[in-house]
Amino acid sequence: MKEAPEIGFRVQVAVQTPAHSGIAEPLTYLAAAALPAGTLVRVPLGQREVLGVVWGEAAPEAAGVEGPVLRPVAAVLEGLPPLSEGWRDLVDFAARYYQRAVGEVALAGLPPQLRELGADQLARRLARKPRAAADAGPAGDTPRTPTPEQAAVLAELRAGGAGAFLLHGSTGSGKTEVYLQAVAERLAADPEAQALVMVPEINLTPQLEARFVARFGPLYGAGAVVAMHSGMTNPQRLGSWLAAHLGRARIVLGTRMAVFASLPKLALIVVDEEHDPSYKQQEGARYSARDLAVWRGRREGAQVLLGSATPSLESWWGSRPPADGDPGGRYRRLAMPSRVGAGDLPAVRLVDMNLQPPRTRLSAGLVDAIAQRVARGEQSMLLLNRRGYAPVLACGDCGWKSECPHCSAYRVFHKIDRSLRCHHCGFAERVPRACPACGNLDIAPVGRGTERLEEELAELLAGVQRPEADGGGPVRIARIDADSTRHEGELARQLAQVHEGAVDVLVGTQMIAKGHDFRRITLVAAVNPDGALFSSDFRAPERLFSLLMQSGGRAGRDSAWLAAQGSRAEMWIQTFHPQHPLFGALRRHDYPAFAAQQLEERRAASLPPFSFQALLRADARTQEAAQGFLTAASADVEDLPEAAAVQRYPAVPLTIQRVANVERAQMLVESESRVALQRLLAQWHPRLHALRRGPEGQGIIRWLVDVDPQLI
Ligand SMILES: [Zn+2]
Ligand SMILES: [Zn+2]
Repeated sequence: MKEAPEIGFRVQVAVQTPAHSGIAEPLTYLAAAALPAGTLVRVPLGQREVLGVVWGEAAPEAAGVEGPVLRPVAAVLEGLPPLSEGWRDLVDFAARYYQRAVGEVALAGLPPQLRELGADQLARRLARKPRAAADAGPAGDTPRTPTPEQAAVLAELRAGGAGAFLLHGSTGSGKTEVYLQAVAERLAADPEAQALVMVPEINLTPQLEARFVARFGPLYGAGAVVAMHSGMTNPQRLGSWLAAHLGRARIVLGTRMAVFASLPKLALIVVDEEHDPSYKQQEGARYSARDLAVWRGRREGAQVLLGSATPSLESWWGSRPPADGDPGGRYRRLAMPSRVGAGDLPAVRLVDMNLQPPRTRLSAGLVDAIAQRVARGEQSMLLLNRRGYAPVLACGDCGWKSECPHCSAYRVFHKIDRSLRCHHCGFAERVPRACPACGNLDIAPVGRGTERLEEELAELLAGVQRPEADGGGPVRIARIDADSTRHEGELARQLAQVHEGAVDVLVGTQMIAKGHDFRRITLVAAVNPDGALFSSDFRAPERLFSLLMQSGGRAGRDSAWLAAQGSRAEMWIQTFHPQHPLFGALRRHDYPAFAAQQLEERRAASLPPFSFQALLRADARTQEAAQGFLTAASADVEDLPEAAAVQRYPAVPLTIQRVANVERAQMLVESESRVALQRLLAQWHPRLHALRRGPEGQGIIRWLVDVDPQLI
């Protein structure tokens, strides 16, 4: 039964092994014929048969050594060209850099449906006719004549060849048009060339996809543009992946997962909103798609274009021009400071909340400004970074608070369905009639979320009438946050209402600030942004500045309409710290000044980009066990030569220490040398697996390494 083939080729195959197995390298199998690296195969693993990628030839067995009994490859997925060496190098690099198994990264980079298909099913799928090239889809997007700034950027890209560029373009400067034309030039220059265009949010892909299809469909057929993101069905994802892998798709548009798309003729990578934290994967292999894009571009000789109005400080520093004794950054910096067809950037108005009557939530000036806009038929947008009605429900008598029994966090009061919901573990209950501790009937919400803001606004604006010309009537308020958009299609429906002008005031979390083009919004307000100024996370001010600049950029996008209205867009910020330098830079729309100030602070404190970090995290039944594991892990690498160059901080609980009855702790690891940090991490990995199996691993549920963490 278990007869091995008489003449066996030994091949290494990357397969998805269980994370706790500690197997980081591809496994060896027998094959009846030599299989080129990159070939997709099905192989036995334990009791199952799984998808794998041939990673190379296995070394021959040393003479006289009895190796383990090898199992044969079960099937070769014929008809698919092997994955390229460039793709495999990308996977190898990502696995090594982010401390994960090669097989895990390789398989995560393939469409899920490929795992389920047998060789025959795949052959049938491949025989299916691709979308006809003649089907050009909706036509009608012709290239615009570039502005002088756009033309200058395109000329630099044309002359620049391979390498990475950072495009610092103000909101409304027409970055998308630059992406479209840069892609068009690349595709026209080489009939096989492919481009990868990445955006941070799934919600932004349909909008962009429509534009790319309209522009490139007439040239290359509608099938030349494919999308890749987690909102697609498995058959759709397989279809996109095959089109890209076989070279039929010339353009792949996608979210961070698209960085692993198989693109054999990759010539250009665009990373839009490159500063966006969602490019960093927050589970499994915690990779940064932005950073991998830069690496992939260099490996494959493709040009990389990172674009943002508020670049990450890493990329900004990485694109600094050469100066005395400093060779400058690795990226070339391009700038488009002017807005195209959009009004001036909004005037920024800071409301000093210290001067407001006590317990003011919405200042009279802001309410008045919103009311005026409603009366003129203009739209306003209010940002508050907390959903629900109130962050906590409390008893005034005994001090009871709506703590989550499973987490070290409060459950949020949602008035809409009268529930107390934990935003960390999901635990939800009906609001109690009386205080569960003392029976007091008078339990009250403390603090404020988007639901409550919506309710308060409705009260404050109750007497305001919409213009008669627009049909009159009372103000229409809408709320967009994770609660209001839980159902599929709900976000798109709500956004459409805002676009149609069926909403006068939009209340929401940062989700409404990203990318959506609200042409009739002339007022944007940040209701309570102060938390980020003094956060323990050193990146919080950077994220706040970017959010405010982006939201401000949403206002007054239609200059002709604004002029006709006789209006000017405004951004209102309610703060107890109006003197904070962040707001000073924001007022002048001066990203470079903000970046310079932040970089100075980071340099003084040796924070990224002046150092490199990783987090070692442990989850356990008790906080003691979690911290004990981390402390033992730290002691375990003391003997390594790199240990002197890599600082390991004491283990601490996470900000939300307990979630769903799991205690969480982390240890920050930091070095001024990325090489030293990487070497230490590589040697740490097997030791951590060993530690987990020993007495220090008692009670440990899981551990993980996060390299270049975005949230500290
Ligand atoms: Zn009570
Ligand atoms: Zn909870």
